[in-house]
Amino acid sequence: MNTIVMKFGGTSVAGTKKLKNIAKIVKSELENSKIIVVVSAMAGETNKLQNYLDEFQCQNSIESDLVLTSGEQVTIGLLSAALKNLGIKSIPLLGWQIPIITDESYEKAKILQINKKRIKEYFSNNDVIVLAGFQGINLDGKITSLGRGGSDTTAVAIASAIEAERCDIYTDVEGVFTTDPNIEINAKKIPKLSYEEMLEMSSTGAKVLHTRSVELAMKNNLTLQVLSSLTKKTGTFILNEKELIEKEIVSGVSYSNNEAKVTISGILDKPGISAKIFGLMTENNINVDMIVQNISQDGVSANITFTINQKDHDLTKSVIERSKNILNYKSLLLDKKVAKISVIGMGMMSQVGVAEKMFKTLAKNAINILAISTSEIKISVLIDEVHTNIAVKSLHEVYNL
Ligand code: ASP
Ligand code: MG
Repeated sequence: MNTIVMKFGGTSVAGTKKLKNIAKIVKSELENSKIIVVVSAMAGETNKLQNYLDEFQCQNSIESDLVLTSGEQVTIGLLSAALKNLGIKSIPLLGWQIPIITDESYEKAKILQINKKRIKEYFSNNDVIVLAGFQGINLDGKITSLGRGGSDTTAVAIASAIEAERCDIYTDVEGVFTTDPNIEINAKKIPKLSYEEMLEMSSTGAKVLHTRSVELAMKNNLTLQVLSSLTKKTGTFILNEKELIEKEIVSGVSYSNNEAKVTISGILDKPGISAKIFGLMTENNINVDMIVQNISQDGVSANITFTINQKDHDLTKSVIERSKNILNYKSLLLDKKVAKISVIGMGMMSQVGVAEKMFKTLAKNAINILAISTSEIKISVLIDEVHTNIAVKSLHEVYNL
């Protein structure tokens, strides 16, 4: 039996008119296959639920996950009803009804196991299963959620478990673009991207897919297609690097304004200081991204600069201030008005001069680089936030995207 997994995100299911449209899209795929449709809650619904929970300081608990996952219950019910109105044999299912078994951790649960046998049984009487994304059940029988944006991960996990023929992720854009079309109108849809490139793009600001879903697809070698639920156009395929005939030197430029820069000046230049600083960050669950250390002219003291997520700004400040006598620094400076700009491409692994081109382009536009970090297929720079648009546009142009 051929099975296709189709996932529709929050903007695609927001409202009954859109749900009726999705029912038609599903019907058009039904000829030779059974279908599992994974849906999110309607756009904005999970945020609304989150706000209710915040009023009760309710988090990471049996209650919070029960509430957070409730938006999906509405969309699966309505979509299944819309499918039945078109004469399609459909059944709406919550995570626990498969079941999708997860570990214990609320609000970031990991999927441990999916019962394939039950899926087959459901398919003996139905052609479509409409499955709630983002949720599972732990071995204790408690409802869990996979983390915000987790419906993508549900889709990939179920597609991998049943060895689906395809996993299509429908959204409100036509695919993954060379950069944000809101900044650069010449941004183009990328036909094919490797998992690695997609992961770098997600972690550097492109908000197309839940990062964990890409990791899971890579682990299971499952090809994904990101496409629009509004147009019928082919989207972007995310696949194994081996299937990329031509590896682009740079496939895309991404940016994130979600960073904050932390500079600690006048620390002692001796072994163990960095370990202490980053030890504090780890203890407090603060993720550190770029790091630059430089020795001051006296050769005795040093300055260290690193970036964190903006949401951790206040916590980082208080943690470092509290440890002033342990770290023995002169001054601490935090800055939220920074942006991280990244260029990403598989081909840069075997090409020289990619970084130089980036730095030259920024210099030509009088943009100062505050920090740099690289991986085999990515170069990121930290700059002042005011230069974001010009940096993105000029890099998009210089790499011929
Ligand atoms: N409804 C959940 C959220 O908003 C899951 C998802 O949309 O993927 O985070
Ligand atoms: Mg999403």
